[in-house]
Amino acid sequence: MGEFDLIARYFTRKPQRAALGVGDDCALLQPRPGTQLAISSDMLVEGRHFLSTVNPAFLGHKALAVNLSDLAACGAEPLAFTLALSLPQADPAWLEPFSRGLLALADAHGCELVGGDTTRGPLNICITVFGEVPVVAGRSQALLRSGARAGDDLYASGTLGDARLALEVFRGNLSVPEAVFAQARQRMEQPTPRVALGQALRGIATAAVDVSDGLLGDLGHVLAASGVGACIDTSIAIDLIASCADSLGAPGTFSLNQRLAFVLAGGDDYELAFTAPPSAREAVMAAARLTQTAVTRIGRIEPEPGLRLVDARGRLLDETYASFDHFA
Ligand code: ADP
Ligand code: MG
Repeated sequence: MGEFDLIARYFTRKPQRAALGVGDDCALLQPRPGTQLAISSDMLVEGRHFLSTVNPAFLGHKALAVNLSDLAACGAEPLAFTLALSLPQADPAWLEPFSRGLLALADAHGCELVGGDTTRGPLNICITVFGEVPVVAGRSQALLRSGARAGDDLYASGTLGDARLALEVFRGNLSVPEAVFAQARQRMEQPTPRVALGQALRGIATAAVDVSDGLLGDLGHVLAASGVGACIDTSIAIDLIASCADSLGAPGTFSLNQRLAFVLAGGDDYELAFTAPPSAREAVMAAARLTQTAVTRIGRIEPEPGLRLVDARGRLLDETYASFDHFA
C-alpha cells in the first residue's frame, strides 16, 4: 500500500462543514460569521505518551481526545482537525483500528478530518484542531487562563488521578484489585474531553485550563496568568479519584497520601479546572447538569500568590506534589 492509497483508504471522507477536505494542497474552512477560530496542536510520541502495546483504536481516540480537551478548555466548539502521522510501516492491522477509533470520536463531536501529512518514521501522531468561539459585541467568549480573580471559587470536572493510578500499575509500582485497574485503565486509554462543559461555561467561568500534566501544575498556569493564588481543600479533592472509591473495595492498597498525589499531580486526566465567582454557583451547577458532567468545588482563588493545600479544618499541609514536565 502506497502513501496515497493509505490516505485514501483510512483518512479520506466526504467534507461536511469544510469547504474543502483531504486531497488538495490546503483544506478550506469557513468559520461562521461572528466567530473566532481556536487552534491547538498536540503530539503523541510512542514510548513517551503511550506504550507500544496499546490498542490502536484507543490510541486513535486518545490522540484526538487530548486535542479536543484543549478546545474544551477554551470553550470552543470543535470544527475540524488535521493529522500528521509518522508510521514505521503501512500495516492495515494497525491503520484500520486506529482510524476507526479516531474517526468515531471525531464524528461524536462533529469535528472533521480535513488534511494532514503521512510519512515513514517512528510512530508519532500530531493533531491540530480548529474550533469556533463566538465573539459577542466585539468581545471573544473564549475561556482563558488569565481571568481568575481573588474570591472566585475553584472547580474541577469529573475525576482526577485515575490515569496515573493505571500507569503506576502498568509500571509495576502498584498492585490493585482487577476492577479498580479496569476502571483506571479505561480513563488512561480513552479519556473523555469535556467539550460540552467547556462551551456551557462560556460567560460563567472566569478562567479555565484542561488538566493534562496534573491539577497543581496546570492550575499553576492559571494562577500565574491571572496574577493570583489559590487554596485547595484536600479533604474534598481526595475523593475525586474514582478508581479507588470505597465501593470498589480498594482502601488499604495504598496510602491516603499516595491517593492525594494521584489526584493533585497525576496527569493525563483531561478534565477541566476552572474558576467562577460565588455569585455564579447556581449557573455552574446548571452547566454541569445540562452537560451531564460532574463538577466539584475544590477551593478558592486568593490574592496572595502561590498554591496552598489545606485539610478539612483549614490547616495548611506542607507536602509538595510535582506535576509532569517533559524536561524536568
Ligand atoms: P502536500 O505534499 O501537498 O503537502 P500530500 O501529498 O502530503 O500533500 O497529501 C495529499 C493530501 O492528503 C493533502 O490534502 C493532505 O492534507 C492529505 N493528507 C496527507 N496525510 C493525511 C493524513 N494522515 N490524514 C488526512 N489527510 C492527509
Ligand atoms: Mg506532504
